[in-house]
Amino acid sequence: MYDAIIIGAGVVGCAVAQQLSRYAGRLLVIDRMEDVADGASKANSGIVHAGFDAHPGTEKARLNVKGAKMYKELAGELGVPYGQPGALVLGFSEDDRATLNKLLEQANANGVEGCRIVERDEILKMEPNTNPAVVCALHAPTSGLVSPYEMTCALADSAAENGAEFILNNPVLEIKPTADGNWLVITGRDEYKTRAVVNCAGMGSGVLHNMISTRRVKLIARRGEYYLLDHAAEMPFHMTMFQCPTKMGKGVLVSPTTHGNILLGPTADDIDDGYDTATTRKGLDNVMDKVRLTWKNANLRLTITTFSGIRAHEEHGDFIIGKVEGAPAGAFEAVGVESPGLSAAPAIGQELGDEVAAFLGLDRKDDWKKPTPIPKAFRVMTDEERAEAYAKNPEYGTLVCRCEQVTEAEIRAAIRRPVGARSIDGVKRRTRAGMGRCQGGFCSPRVMEILCEELGVSPLEITKCGGDSRLLVGTLHDIAKEARPDEK
Ligand SMILES: Cc1cc2nc3c(=O)[nH]c(=O)nc-3n(C[C@H](O)[C@H](O)[C@H](O)COP(=O)(O)OP(=O)(O)OC[C@H]3O[C@@H](n4cnc5c(N)ncnc54)[C@H](O)[C@@H]3O)c2cc1C
Repeated sequence: MYDAIIIGAGVVGCAVAQQLSRYAGRLLVIDRMEDVADGASKANSGIVHAGFDAHPGTEKARLNVKGAKMYKELAGELGVPYGQPGALVLGFSEDDRATLNKLLEQANANGVEGCRIVERDEILKMEPNTNPAVVCALHAPTSGLVSPYEMTCALADSAAENGAEFILNNPVLEIKPTADGNWLVITGRDEYKTRAVVNCAGMGSGVLHNMISTRRVKLIARRGEYYLLDHAAEMPFHMTMFQCPTKMGKGVLVSPTTHGNILLGPTADDIDDGYDTATTRKGLDNVMDKVRLTWKNANLRLTITTFSGIRAHEEHGDFIIGKVEGAPAGAFEAVGVESPGLSAAPAIGQELGDEVAAFLGLDRKDDWKKPTPIPKAFRVMTDEERAEAYAKNPEYGTLVCRCEQVTEAEIRAAIRRPVGARSIDGVKRRTRAGMGRCQGGFCSPRVMEILCEELGVSPLEITKCGGDSRLLVGTLHDIAKEARPDEK
């Protein structure tokens, strides 16, 4: 019997798990995918929003501002890349000025510090590559950047270091109350009994909610498509450059990432299949049409990949956080956590984790282990640091991913982490091997060998991202034997 089962190992589920791991209780996190951070938490803009966009009085606004203020310290503790370059929301007409003034009012009402309207000349001084047609902008100096998947993996590790169990690759099919006042979580592989259940299942959270609540929710899958440019491209802006928001969201941005790439996007299109993360010609063309308004000379020569993520948009537009309405005691949830869910995650994790612990009557642990920060990456070490790392572990001397300068030592460490990588993409998210210009064309075979050595499995079992995504289908020997069965 568990004290709490968290369904969903995205940034929200892992933040809740980390907070609950501070209490003495038996904790399990279940996800349908083969790794943590495999939903919206791996495919978003990575912006820690300052908090001017959400309507005052909403859970989105409150949790965004609170979460954003927690980021610097939390990311520092976890060793996750984070920066606070600020943001500009650009206006190109007097109508846009009215929108920006409204955003400024919201910023003040939400308690966001330092926002102000800036005029054309100042914008062009701050960011000379801005389209000179710009009229005015909202400047939000506290807008930040984080690596969303690294954040999620690190939160998972911290929870696991403090006793949380993770079962991946196992979809939850049903949750139901039991006659003795507990909960049964029925998955594709097994059944688990628990005193409390916490639904953090992103796009899957609506279905689970509707199984047990008297309140119906409807989640709309809103896809956002992106271009990602190599870090060899000259960085046009040092801040995140937004355009005025629309009713579909915050609009298309041009932004640096924490790793020095340039991110262009996202679109916002409602689709039927909440797991369809394809990119489309139409969507990507739409990105570029909008990007050129911000960055007139944008070009795509250094594009290294395109991708998309799915927002779980609740039809009434706010987050639904806390006890599940109308359900028996012990059911909690974080539903409809679309943007700014990444920014809000530390606050959601703290509040929801504490609420569940209070319901269960759990005591705080005296021996909670602080996170083991992810070591500095080889690619950003000084020469002295590299020499020192090599002296301690000669595997720092073998570069596996040339594009992103990732060493064998780092890949092995990623597999050995508390919630370690089990696939090529798992290694990529934790180390950046395969994130670069060649997109893994060079390093994937070696990453695969290292995964086999570390996990003691055959290359035939290694997948790109779980499920049927195997990279090898057989050996030449097997294929030859099949073709000529009688030959010795
Ligand atoms: C295009 C885009 C841009 C965004 N940009 C930003 C941004 O810049 N800043 C910001 O703050 N926010 C942003 N967001 C929002 C942010 O990404 C999300 O709010 C956040 O990642 C949600 O985290 P989550 O843990 O709730 O969901 P997810 O990361 O989707 O995690 C849910 C998990 O539940 C699992 N799951 C689902 N169903 C089941 C089931 N039945 N059984 C077991 N497991 C299940 C999934 O596999 C998944 O791992 C953006 C989102 C998108 C899509």
